[in-house]
Amino acid sequence: MLQPHELKLEDMGDLAEIIPGPEPVLQMAVHPIDPFGAPQRRNIIPVCEPTLAGNELKYVTEAVETNWISSRGTFIHKFEALFAEKMGARYGVACANGTVSLHLALATTGIGPGDEVIIPTFTMIATANAVVYLGATPVLVDSEPVTWNMDVAQVEAKITPRTKAIIPVHTYGHPVDMDPLNAIAQKHGVFVLEDAAEAHGAQYKGRTVGSLGDAASFSFYGNKIITTGEGGMVTTNREDVARLAWNLRDHAFSTERHFWHKFMGYNYRITNLQAAVGLAQTEQLEKFVAARRGNAAYYTALLRQIPGIVTPPEAAWAINVFWMYGIVLDQEFPLTRDELRNGLAKRGIETRTFFIPMHCQPIYFDQYRGERYPVAEDLCKRGLYLPSASNLTRADIETVVAAIRECVAEATR
Ligand SMILES: *Cc1c(COP(=O)(O)O)cnc(C)c1O
Repeated sequence: MLQPHELKLEDMGDLAEIIPGPEPVLQMAVHPIDPFGAPQRRNIIPVCEPTLAGNELKYVTEAVETNWISSRGTFIHKFEALFAEKMGARYGVACANGTVSLHLALATTGIGPGDEVIIPTFTMIATANAVVYLGATPVLVDSEPVTWNMDVAQVEAKITPRTKAIIPVHTYGHPVDMDPLNAIAQKHGVFVLEDAAEAHGAQYKGRTVGSLGDAASFSFYGNKIITTGEGGMVTTNREDVARLAWNLRDHAFSTERHFWHKFMGYNYRITNLQAAVGLAQTEQLEKFVAARRGNAAYYTALLRQIPGIVTPPEAAWAINVFWMYGIVLDQEFPLTRDELRNGLAKRGIETRTFFIPMHCQPIYFDQYRGERYPVAEDLCKRGLYLPSASNLTRADIETVVAAIRECVAEATR
């Protein structure tokens, strides 16, 4: 039987102090009802939820009525075409989720055991796992303190003759500084895969993420800016990458004989039902991005008045889409991150801690033992994100900020 990797906090040295406490239990509270009639869930404010306010039901109904519900059908092609176009990419390869889209895109490069892939340590586990699924080794890079993204200035020092790819992650919706990263990649002949799972519609120097490297990977999980329930997509401007990804997605059936497989393929297909939702969601992308940016601006205006809160960044060259509205608590703030989370949970407000870095994960700790990434560790210790859904109202945001003020008042009384 598979055994879990047990990592005891006492065996982590001083890294133990960055590991968040147990998840607080959310308590019901009475909050203002959404005046636009969103589902009656306002006794809690969730950290995120989907907005299904467009053609979702119409398109799903059409898929059912025409009997096309599996992994062929026109919605898949329409979804791939419209989404890729909005990301500024020539091709889109829709698949089952954002983890397998990373795996699929990486698989097209032919990497395997002995090869290295550079990733940020401050990311969601799927970025590292996709590399490991192929037998390759993730090589970690710290974040830079302003945008919280992978510190591009530290990447070149991590390149070895075995480096085959770099995965910049556009964390929480803020793009990575791609020009210098692409220059390093080009110099060393390394594949660049954007992990854009959190950054649908974000822009870097006027160009949309998803078309800034050799390929990009998106997730359409329920809490992402666009959702299909579960889903993902590889976008690329490279015809060779797109063709191979379409083939690998579908068991790598060959054209010469159907049951004849010349590549190790996968079943990573998406269904026409999911793509129907995805097409309807993609039609509303600009609306979702505008809502999230508006919400973020309102949060920032209100939170600036509370000492000790660092609000999320936006570089001069960036359009941040604020997948999650993240804040970092500095020394001036009277509560620890976990204390604030507990206080908000008591008031019916759901939050999430920032990522726990890859080198602190039970499954990877031994592999990276002794390596330190101070910026990522500090973000893990002091960061959390607040409710961030596209359908959040101004009243919701005011409720969240008022609750933070109450927690501060309680702590300083
Ligand atoms: C959500 C996410 C993924 C994984 O997407 P799934 O659809 O949940 O598999 C990968 N990378 C990052 C950075 C993510 O936030």
